[in-house]
Amino acid sequence: MRIPTLRTLFGKRASAASPPKDRSSVRVGIPKVLNIWSTHQFWVGFLTALGIAPENIVFSSDTSEEQYREYGKGRGTVDCCYPVKCMSGHYGELIFGQKKKIDVLLSPMIYSLPSFLRGHVLDTLTCTRVMAGPENIKAGFLKERDVFAENGIRYVSPFVSLGEPEKVPKQLYLALKDVLDLTEEETARAVEAGYRALEAFNQKMRQKSREILTWCARHERPCILVLARPYHMDPGIGHEIEAELQAHGFPILWMQYFPTDDDLMHWLFGEEIRAGRIKSPFDISDVWPSSYSSNTNEILWGAKVAARCPWVTCVIRFSSYECGMDQPTYTPTQKIVEASGTLYFKFGDLDATKPAGSIKIRVETIVHYVEKYSRDIIRRKLAALPPHCPLLEEAPSTSESASLAA
Ligand code: SF4
Repeated sequence: MRIPTLRTLFGKRASAASPPKDRSSVRVGIPKVLNIWSTHQFWVGFLTALGIAPENIVFSSDTSEEQYREYGKGRGTVDCCYPVKCMSGHYGELIFGQKKKIDVLLSPMIYSLPSFLRGHVLDTLTCTRVMAGPENIKAGFLKERDVFAENGIRYVSPFVSLGEPEKVPKQLYLALKDVLDLTEEETARAVEAGYRALEAFNQKMRQKSREILTWCARHERPCILVLARPYHMDPGIGHEIEAELQAHGFPILWMQYFPTDDDLMHWLFGEEIRAGRIKSPFDISDVWPSSYSSNTNEILWGAKVAARCPWVTCVIRFSSYECGMDQPTYTPTQKIVEASGTLYFKFGDLDATKPAGSIKIRVETIVHYVEKYSRDIIRRKLAALPPHCPLLEEAPSTSESASLAA
């Protein structure tokens, strides 16, 4: 079966001098898996800058057992890491589960990430299972026959170094030029738009986190920091454990979006920088010299922040079943957090099944300890920091006070 491309759909030839191509009716499906959870705004910004209508950018649903049973069954591959294994259900949902068919299934092989720690660490690579995940899962849809072609879908899986923006235009141009009838110039412009969209989203999320922290500081209230990989935000992978804690009245922050403003960072880390123990607030060489893996680096950095920030009185750590990347980090992370008396609870080996009973019991335990010890933890951690906390010195924003007090 002939697979339509934009060239055949719209009959336009690629040329730098051509007017912008009409891609408004092309539908692109993206499996909402792995590091798409931290880079989705890049892909939305990139595709919309190419003229794909926002309503035609389709992300698969959150992971669920039903999704796998209905769309991924029989297409499993050998990977025992659940965040990779569950991708079959996402692919299947995009292929078989759309009322309006997609034209392109875009599943990037993300090699590196644009982490806020870049420049302070050795590298910001993804886990090798993440990089290879799309190839691995694709095999399940090709093993008997080409399911993509049968459904009139172009499968594209660009290898992309999002941590090195200068490489990305060429990588995406080469991978997508035939499918979306691209020119190099428009690809480069779209990549810039993608990074701008991602940066704007990250800034907005960090600002929201700062508002939460400021509220905690003003009201002497604790919050809980989640240390996890981006896809633990998926309710089917992280099982919404943090939401259960939030229901008890504790604000939740995700390490990925912890505020990184200069004033706050220097309040927390300034003394160690002046003493020469670290070079910057984002230097993790004191605790993690082998800093190649992006999400691992951020988890270690999050542990350092949690140990210092007074209102983070408790950390919850998530990891997935069979995660080889997380194994070596368990002890250092726990030791860093607990060194300042901050509470630490780990939910390890998470997989498809939500262990509802044990989560309920552990949530009750965490709530008990956070309620009982937070006041002392805040006091002790404040005493170890310089005076003049920037969060307590800024004027409260009315929206922040109103929304958090509600
Ligand atoms: S980091 Fe761990 S959970 Fe994530 S893909 Fe790699 S092995 Fe799987």
